[in-house]
Amino acid sequence: MNLNTDVIVAGAGPVGLLLACELRLAGLDVVVLERRDAPVSDSRALSMHARTVETLGLRGLAPRFLERGRPFGVGHYGALETMLDFSALDSSYPFQLVIPQSLTEQLLEQHARDLGVRLHRGATVDETWQDDAAVHASGTLDGQRFTAGGAYLVGCDGARSAVRRQAGIAFEGLDAGTTTMLGDVRLQAPLPAPALMKVNQEGVLMIVPLGDGVHHRLIVLDARRRHVPVTEPVTLEELADGARRIAGCDYLPSQPRWLSRFSDETRHAAQYRQGRIFLAGDAAHIHMPAGGQGMNVGMQDAFNLGWKMAAVVRGQAPQALLESYHDERHPLGAQLFRNTMAQTALMTSLDPRGLALRAEISGLLTQPEANLKLALQISGLGIGYGAALSEPPAPVLAGWSGRRIPDMKLADGGSVHALLHDGEWLYLRLRDDAPHAVACPGRLRTVSGALAPPSDASGASQAELMAAGPRALLIRPDGYADYALA
Ligand SMILES: Cc1cc2nc3c(=O)[nH]c(=O)nc-3n(C[C@H](O)[C@H](O)[C@H](O)COP(=O)(O)OP(=O)(O)OC[C@H]3O[C@@H](n4cnc5c(N)ncnc54)[C@H](O)[C@@H]3O)c2cc1C
Repeated sequence: MNLNTDVIVAGAGPVGLLLACELRLAGLDVVVLERRDAPVSDSRALSMHARTVETLGLRGLAPRFLERGRPFGVGHYGALETMLDFSALDSSYPFQLVIPQSLTEQLLEQHARDLGVRLHRGATVDETWQDDAAVHASGTLDGQRFTAGGAYLVGCDGARSAVRRQAGIAFEGLDAGTTTMLGDVRLQAPLPAPALMKVNQEGVLMIVPLGDGVHHRLIVLDARRRHVPVTEPVTLEELADGARRIAGCDYLPSQPRWLSRFSDETRHAAQYRQGRIFLAGDAAHIHMPAGGQGMNVGMQDAFNLGWKMAAVVRGQAPQALLESYHDERHPLGAQLFRNTMAQTALMTSLDPRGLALRAEISGLLTQPEANLKLALQISGLGIGYGAALSEPPAPVLAGWSGRRIPDMKLADGGSVHALLHDGEWLYLRLRDDAPHAVACPGRLRTVSGALAPPSDASGASQAELMAAGPRALLIRPDGYADYALA
């Protein structure tokens, strides 16, 4: 079997699959090596945040996810009583989409196969090495040894990443201190609201609908059982007992589809790149799944890396472009490290002092400005990158380089995101006096056209941009402005 390719991706979780789609969209040959013989059926991540839905929208894929998930206008931070209000966000998707990770992976895998990604199941990578010319991965595939070669290898092989270990990249952080139970179950007693969150000295209880109209996800941080090892199987009785004590009533969970335990182990890779080897997703960062962020941040890693790697392999960009992957994404992994530790502290300090701290911070979140700040962080919409990656031909407007561009509407009825479906850079000439051509590291599409006045309050960025009156915008394939020409 020929496993030589442009890019080898280890792991077909959501991060590896999205990365493979991006590389293939740009015309690269991609081999994905996945240890599991079959897709996973456990639901796992339920929250797909606004920036991830928007990201899928940038490639025209959002409708197929929106069809299968349920929008939820609020989210939580540290299980505080005051919810984060996503409805105030400047996006076409001002909500989180509740959709099981198993379904997300199924949709991404189908898309990857449609694009022509070579996905091999039952393929475990156990060794990697590199030299000046290429990188190699070897392991077992259907019981036989294999070797794959490519220009780059990306470890999207999850928390215990073999690629990370083989590359010798440090993964420092904190050991597990607390474990939490979860169960996807049926409830025999009705809930007082569509979703429920309760925190007291007995622990933390969250109940959310799974979206299939039948099952609910119960998350139980039982103060009496928080030091049970993550490897100890959860029983329905244990889950039900914890939930009953925290809720003060019994919702009668039954018929579990999935019972599991997760921890607050928190680690961050020291580097996201070592020569021809890169890390993305859980291979690069793990943490308590608080606020529903791991998959989302990992998919953003993939979306940042894919077009850059494709441009370099195709000779359209200098090698140096790949340095910006670590430079742009590592600080965001560090922010994830911090915010999940902060949320863990809020969710595990359950004595009267901790509960008082929670009440104070929850009170602060009733202030719209504070609420928006955290909603922007958790939704991923607040993420931006500092500097331009290409050389502007003329002076630029301050504050726009690296800024996320929402789906702005054009005067001809089109939209900016629709122009990015092919994964190219977009040079949008907004005025006749804009330069006719610009240089950028990658495939470029040039379009002339004016912005339409925003029709509602959700177009705040568009209104701000129009007021600034730039001559042109150069937008990266991942939907961030590289610069706005003054
Ligand atoms: C209970 C729970 C709830 C969560 N909820 C959310 C949420 O709501 N929102 C959110 O954003 N995140 C959530 N997360 C986190 C999310 O599940 C992970 O961040 C996400 O799975 C990471 O995706 P990934 O592709 O990086 O890694 P994974 O999903 O772990 O995929 C890695 C893949 O690599 C394969 N692999 C591993 N080793 C090898 C090897 N040596 N060779 C070949 N293949 C290999 C694995 O089989 C796997 O398919 C939750 C996590 C848990 C546990």
